Amino acid sequence: MTNLTCVVIGGGISGLITATVLQRAGIKVTVLDKGRGIGGRLATRRLEYGESCIGIFDYGAQYFSIKQPQLQVWVDDWLQQGVIKEWCRGFDEVDGKPRYCGVNGIRSIAKYLAQNLNVHTNTKVIKLNYQDGWQVLTEDGQFTADILVMTPPVPQSLTLLDDSQITLSTETRENLEAITYHSCIAILALLEQPCKIPAPGGMSLETEPLVWLASNDQKGISPNGYAVTLHATPNFSKTYWSKGDEEIAQMLLDSAAKWLDSPVIKYQVHRWRYSLPATFHSQPYLALSELPLVMAGDAFVAPKIEGAVLSGLAAAEYIISQQ
Ligand SMILES: Cc1cc2nc3c(=O)[nH]c(=O)nc-3n(C[C@H](O)[C@H](O)[C@H](O)COP(=O)(O)OP(=O)(O)OC[C@H]3O[C@@H](n4cnc5c(N)ncnc54)[C@H](O)[C@@H]3O)c2cc1C
Repeated sequence: MTNLTCVVIGGGISGLITATVLQRAGIKVTVLDKGRGIGGRLATRRLEYGESCIGIFDYGAQYFSIKQPQLQVWVDDWLQQGVIKEWCRGFDEVDGKPRYCGVNGIRSIAKYLAQNLNVHTNTKVIKLNYQDGWQVLTEDGQFTADILVMTPPVPQSLTLLDDSQITLSTETRENLEAITYHSCIAILALLEQPCKIPAPGGMSLETEPLVWLASNDQKGISPNGYAVTLHATPNFSKTYWSKGDEEIAQMLLDSAAKWLDSPVIKYQVHRWRYSLPATFHSQPYLALSELPLVMAGDAFVAPKIEGAVLSGLAAAEYIISQQ
């Protein structure tokens, strides 16, 4: 047990993994997230119509697979605890590689990790100060820590550092500014009838304006509502970002009509400004030499859950190695 304290900004998968590993090493960790729920881009939401029609939608990350063996121990635990399940072994083609999804939606993974951590949601960090330790100012309070881990999408972390007048070396700043993200507009559509997306219920598309369609009921997370998630391409999302919800939904639902093949009872539009990183940092985390500050997240490894987990693990291992 050490007396060290750490604040992790961001309760997405990378922040939660870092926090879990640090806590196991005896560091006192606090996770702060601005979202109403935990999970960041591991996002699941309900849409209801009447009393009995309840659609449950994964509207950010849809599923994950793993290539790196160090993730197996986490996946085994999540499987054993009933947090995740195997969705399928491929969509257009079966390749034998398990694709995992949350048993009750992808956010379940974040909820499971958060249950053993000191997590504050609805807590937006607005300013940082370092003087004999970190003072982390939120919209309605302050936290202190010896070490700070930042896991928001990199442009948001840079804004926070700028607002706090924390200057980075020119090289670090240039490296971080080079990290860019695609945006993605998602539609959550509650249908009257089952859709025509073929089993197992997920489809990648290669033509504009849609990149992905998924049936959450076929996936098994929406037993009481026919719930389809649509993801628009980066190009469509950028072009139509500021248009009204109705106009966007009309275009995307029309494009998916053949696969939906049902009247839409209700829909929601969600805009992911930072969806998938398009360019990456060259290392799995960034540690500042001048301050006890480490940055992590998918943009430091790869644009997927596995990348975010690997970055979170690497950041935690680095911090532990410095003690
Ligand atoms: C539409 C979409 C589809 C995707 N599909 C897949 C998929 O099928 N498979 C896959 O593997 N991956 C997929 N991904 C990518 C995957 O979701 C991400 O790689 C991963 O979830 C990133 O985790 P993270 O912890 O790095 O970041 P995030 O999940 O973005 O977490 C960052 C957190 O920081 C918080 N935050 C930001 N600023 C502040 C602040 N000032 N104060 C407090 N908190 C703050 C945010 O609220 C957020 O919770 C998809 C992503 C999107 C958006």
